[in-house]
Amino acid sequence: MKTMTCKQLGGACNKTFSADTFDEIVTMSKSHGMEMFEKNDKSHLDAMEEISVLMQDQSKMQEWFNQKKEEFNAL
Ligand SMILES: [Zn+2]
Repeated sequence: MKTMTCKQLGGACNKTFSADTFDEIVTMSKSHGMEMFEKNDKSHLDAMEEISVLMQDQSKMQEWFNQKKEEFNAL
């Protein structure tokens, strides 16, 4: 079981997620992100905007994703 924070996963707070696989932890952070989005949490909205800019460039997004995955695997 590995633990990463919302912030480490491109979010904005220190909430932690624990999972065995990177895909699982991404799913957890995404649903937390959606929750914060619904609550109109400013810092999460800003963080999401940054990610959505990244998403417009597939190779940059892939690079970001791989980087986070490496971080997870290195834990
Ligand atoms: Zn968060």
